[in-house]
Amino acid sequence: MDENCIFCKIIRGDFNTEFVYENEHLVVFRDINPKAPVHLLVVPRVHVPSLNELDDKDLLGELMLGVKEAAKKVGLKSYRTQINTGKEAGQEVFHLHIHVLGK
Ligand code: AMP
Ligand code: ZN
Repeated sequence: MDENCIFCKIIRGDFNTEFVYENEHLVVFRDINPKAPVHLLVVPRVHVPSLNELDDKDLLGELMLGVKEAAKKVGLKSYRTQINTGKEAGQEVFHLHIHVLGK
């Protein structure tokens, strides 16, 4: 838990954000500023700032399976995934997340 991190606060339940899918490793919620008709964020429960700081292979696998499970849950058969890593690549929230974009 990082006290200054918006996603840690969401995970803690500070904003009553609806999770479209969750398990012991991750939560999935809708992006507040969607760039596609369906735009989900798959977010690990632990605070990892970006992909550059992730070395847990099991968690990496869980996150990708979380993408699949969340897509299935909202009825997405086709979707794109995106991970922005670093400010220059457009990362704004420094708590690792995978964007899932579809119609
Ligand atoms: P990134 O640019 O990859 O760091 O993506 C951060 C994403 O988080 C952006 O698409 C924002 O719209 C989204 N976002 C920021 N704050 C919230 C929030 N409180 N609830 C849902 N999505 C958020
Ligand atoms: Zn965090």
